[in-house]
Amino acid sequence: MVSWSYGQKMTKKESENDDRNQPGLKYRYSFPDFLYYSALLAIPVVTAFTAVLDRSGAASLVYLLVLLGSVPVMLRFFCTHCPHYCRDENTLKCIFFWGLPKVFRQRPGSLGVMEKSISIAAPALFILFPVYWLLQAPGLLIIYLLSIIVFGASVRRNECPRCIYTDCPANNANQQ
Ligand code: SF4
Repeated sequence: MVSWSYGQKMTKKESENDDRNQPGLKYRYSFPDFLYYSALLAIPVVTAFTAVLDRSGAASLVYLLVLLGSVPVMLRFFCTHCPHYCRDENTLKCIFFWGLPKVFRQRPGSLGVMEKSISIAAPALFILFPVYWLLQAPGLLIIYLLSIIVFGASVRRNECPRCIYTDCPANNANQQ
């Protein structure tokens, strides 16, 4: 990793490796990138979990299982095609996972119809699951909706236009 601070002169090699100087694609994510998106995603998750737990302990347990269960599903059906996953390293390091062992085999190339469907259905399930309980807590519902919008807009604005996962249906890097 390049160590550099503003005001300090970079060598040519450091400049080539530092994505702050590359307006194009993002080939590597940093730990602060991971922390930023994890914190951003934690806002709707904690808000929804609070709303569900307030009304039903059993439902909050199911919600937790839905959240945890969606991780291996997304890894298997969506992430195994991603260049960050297909990199020749034992652990996954990207905006949503850091140091996670790769238990599924890499599948470089495009996603099949079933993989695309599951990749859409899994996040849709964990977004929609808590809505019934959130409707009973309007304040939390507003925070939930706003934080989902901010999360989605941040990924869409900041990541999709420079993402190297060109087989992802949401990728718009080639439109730059
Ligand atoms: S960047 Fe996204 S698609 Fe790629 S491995 Fe990470 S979470 Fe999966």
